[in-house]
Formats: sequence, structure tokens, C-alpha cells
Amino acid sequence: MINVIISGAPGSGKGTQSDLIVKNFRLKHLSTGDMLRNEIAAGTELGKQVEKLVSGGLFVPDSIMIDIIANAIQKVDNSYNGLILDGFPRTVEQAQALETILEQQGKKITVFLDIHVDEAELIERLLKRGQIYGRTDDNLETIKERLKAYSSKTQPISDFYKKKNNYYQIEGNGTIEEIYGKIEDIITACNL
Ligand code: ADP
Repeated sequence: MINVIISGAPGSGKGTQSDLIVKNFRLKHLSTGDMLRNEIAAGTELGKQVEKLVSGGLFVPDSIMIDIIANAIQKVDNSYNGLILDGFPRTVEQAQALETILEQQGKKITVFLDIHVDEAELIERLLKRGQIYGRTDDNLETIKERLKAYSSKTQPISDFYKKKNNYYQIEGNGTIEEIYGKIEDIITACNL
């Protein structure tokens, strides 16, 4: 069983790398950003509740996110070798709740991947993505809000995983293939 957390600032390439990881290691991809965007697009009660927060680059409350992820993890069937969490945990409180959720299901985190990219590069990537895909949160004002939330609330969870000895920081400024190569080596080594 391989259970991966992929973390990093908005625009660091979590989604892109997750796609490659799930294919090669046969993991279930759980992206909280995708889940929220699907709820918003479908116009569900939850979607309506979170729409303004997401488009403003603000975090959805921990209690809501913890429920969403607990349900999603429970639904992962045995045909997968494990799961990859992309976008969760984003706060120390979420990281602590995740411990309990996994423990209850007899699972644990194999590796925490922290992709590091310079801020100027992040902003450039997100603005470009906004032009191509039109995500409502990929505009300069909201990008700045998301980067602020990342450094104040998400970066502190690194210490939580460093203490568990399964923390790896990855330089995320290269090509997609170069970065994936480093990630593949780490996951393979952690799974021996
Ligand atoms: P990015 O990493 O590029 O910011 P995501 O797709 O992971 O994008 O998330 C988009 C938005 O969804 C976030 O800005 C936030 O509003 C919301 N969100 C996703 N995951 C969480 C979470 N674990 N806790 C709080 N809010 C979240």
C-alpha cells in the first residue's frame, strides 16, 4: 500500500505530477480542488456553500474539508495500490484529523512530497493557466490571496511531517519529466 501526500504552493505542479504518479503506481487520485470545482459546477448545496470562498482564493472551513476527505478515502476500492492526496491537508488541523481518519481505516502515509517553486515562477504559471483554462481563481488578486494562505497556513504542516521522517522536498523548477523522475525515485525507495 502506497499512500502519498503531494503538497506545494498553488501552481507548483501538484496536479500534473499526480496524473503521472497515479498512472505509474496505480493509485487513486483524490484532489480536493477538483472535488470542490465539480460540486460548484453541478450546483449542489455544498457547491453553493463554497463557491465564493474558492473563487476568492480563501480556504473552505476545516470541518467541511475533513468530512469530504474522510468520505472520499472510505470509498477507495481495493483495486488500487493506495491513494494520493492532492490539496489536502492544507492546515495543521486537517493534518491532525487525517491521522485519525487513516488510523481508523488501518492506513498510513508512506511519503509526504513537498514541491518547491519560486514565487515569481508560480505567479507566471498561474496567470498562464488562467488564460488557457479560465479558472476563476487564476487572476492576479486571487493568486496573491492563495499564496498568502499557503505560506501562513499550509507551509507549517511541513514540520508535522518532518517529525515523522517521511518528508521530502523536491525542487519543482525543472521540466515535468525531470521532476517526475525525482518523485518516482522517492516513492520507489519509500515503498521498499
Ligand atoms: P491550487 O493548489 O492551485 O490553489 P486547488 O485546486 O488545490 O488549487 O484548490 C483550489 C481551491 O479549493 C483553494 O484555493 C481553496 O479555496 C479550496 N480548497 C481545496 N482544498 C482545500 C482544503 N484542503 N482546505 C481548504 N480549502 C481547500
